[in-house]
Order: sequence, then structure tokens, then C-alpha cells
Amino acid sequence: MVAVLSGVVLSCVGGRYRVFTGEQILEATLRGRMKQTGEAQVLVGDRVALAMHGAEEATIERVHERDSVLRRRSPGRARGTRPVAANVDQVVVVGSTRRPDWNPYLIDRFTAVAEANHVAAIVVVNKVDLEDSAEAFGDAYRRAGYAVLATSTKTGVGIAELRERLTSHVSLFAGPTGVGKSSLLNALVPGLTLRTAAVSHRSGAGRHTTVSAEMHSIGHGGFVVDTPGLRDVGLWGLDPAEVGEAFPEVAPHRPDCRFDNCRHRGEPGCAVRGAVERGLVARTRYESYLRLLEEAEAAARPWG
Ligand code: GDP
Ligand code: ZN
Repeated sequence: MVAVLSGVVLSCVGGRYRVFTGEQILEATLRGRMKQTGEAQVLVGDRVALAMHGAEEATIERVHERDSVLRRRSPGRARGTRPVAANVDQVVVVGSTRRPDWNPYLIDRFTAVAEANHVAAIVVVNKVDLEDSAEAFGDAYRRAGYAVLATSTKTGVGIAELRERLTSHVSLFAGPTGVGKSSLLNALVPGLTLRTAAVSHRSGAGRHTTVSAEMHSIGHGGFVVDTPGLRDVGLWGLDPAEVGEAFPEVAPHRPDCRFDNCRHRGEPGCAVRGAVERGLVARTRYESYLRLLEEAEAAARPWG
């Protein structure tokens, strides 16, 4: 009889899967009959049943039901999505105070993508060692109801709190290039040595160093997923009417708008605009909303 184990998929490269059983990491291949239905059916983060053939050889027999699938737009194609990882329950949206400068629009884009995927988000303001008033960057997000953490991988500030937030979650790190995602993961994952990219002086942008999604155990039931290349996430499949739902502080005002189909652009009696005027919704968040709405509308046009 073959021994059956369960585990979680940490990475898939060229048809070989690394699966964490809680005690060890096994290399596994897909069982023959699973191969026929395509590689994409087993994702990083999937909980799987493994059969052991001897001490070394493992095959993935079955994928357990997923709680969620995080998707991104397929690269190089206008339409279609590609699954990134399964069972992610928290997106850690990282931005930096400087080098590169804090960019509200990019941060908002990532929180909106998390919301659209029905995954919780937290916001990390990294490189607080470079800016005295780093606190201010998080204001709009605290007001929106997000947990905001201030960190520095140089001084170690906030790393313990961040680690605590990751316990018992599968967290995905997302954010613009160069903000310090790899550095944070290196600080969080014992033994991890992701290459970090030096920030170029001219553009302030880091260089891409890693390629495919990979998950790491950080102990206490916590996992982190590193997904390089997620910076070009789009608002695939997001209906223009849903963009407001992707902003948790905008959504509650919607029922008070005069028009049912209000898109909060400047329609008379718009409660969202009113909330912006009264400071209940941060202006930067509202501007991001308008920009993302514009993008979703363009994507929804058949000739777009
Ligand atoms: P990623 O592209 O988001 O993965 O960013 P990296 O982790 O590669 O970091 C980009 C650059 O920022 C590297 O030169 C890091 O050494 C630097 N960096 C990362 N975290 C911090 C920080 O907290 N403070 C400062 N001053 N620099 C940092
Ligand atoms: Zn409105």
C-alpha cells in the first residue's frame, strides 16, 4: 500500500512541485491522469493529497477544494486571467516612503485588486528610516479601515508586528518594484535569501529579480507568497459598477447617492463626493477610484 500524506504546494517549476507536509518539503510530480487536464490546475498554495512511492518519490493525487484563487491579467494579452495562487487570505500591500516615493495610486490599485478577489488587505509603509513623517502615508488607509504597519528592514522597526500579522494566514506580498518586498520576506522567513534589487538612481525603480510565484512557511501556520511581476495587475473582470465596491470606505455612501447608477464623478446629489468634501474619504483614494473606474470602463468597451 502507498502511504498518503497531505501537504501544501510551495512552488511549481517545470512540472516539479515542492510540497510542504508540515514536517518536510517533498519534491512531487503530478500523477499521470492529472497531467492530462493541464498544469494550471495545481497552484502554489493548493492543499494536495500526496502518494509516497518509497521514501523519495511522491505524486500529487488530488487537489483539495480551494477557498480562493487570486488572479492576474494574462501577460501580453488584453483579455483573460491567469491564476497566481490558491488559498491566499491576505494581501500585504507594500509601499515605500522614498526610493521609490510613496505612490497612492499604485497602492490603491493593489488594495482594489485584493478587494475584487475578496481577499483581506493590510498596508505596509516600508523604509520609514528614510522619512520622518512616514505616519502620514498610512492615514488614508487607516480611515478606510485597513491595518497599517510601518516597517524598516534597515532598522528592524515593525518587523515583529508584521510577523505577528502573518501568523495563521497565507499572505501574498504585492506592491511596486523596489519598495522592499524581497527585503521584508528575507527578514521574515528564516533562511530565505531572495536577491534584492538595488534601486537605480535615475528612475528610482528597482530591477526585477525573481520569476514565478513561490510560497514559504514562516512557522506558526503562516505562509507568505512571493509573486514577482504582480506589479502589472489589472482590473480584469471588474465591472465598472464594481469599482466602488473595491474601496471599502466608498461603498457605504453609495446608497445615499441620488441616482441608483451614480458613479460618483460629479453627478448631482452624489453622497460619495459629499463624503470626500467632509474628509470621510481621502482625496487621494477618491482620485484613485476615478482613475480605476476609467480603466475598468475602457476595458469593458468591446472596441477598447
Ligand atoms: P522589491 O522590488 O520590492 O522586492 O524591493 P527589494 O527588497 O529588492 O529592495 C529594493 C531596495 O530597497 C534594496 O536596495 C533594498 O536594500 C532597499 N530597502 C529595502 N527595505 C528598505 C528599508 O526599510 N529602508 C531602506 N532605506 N532601504 C530598504
Ligand atoms: Zn455617487
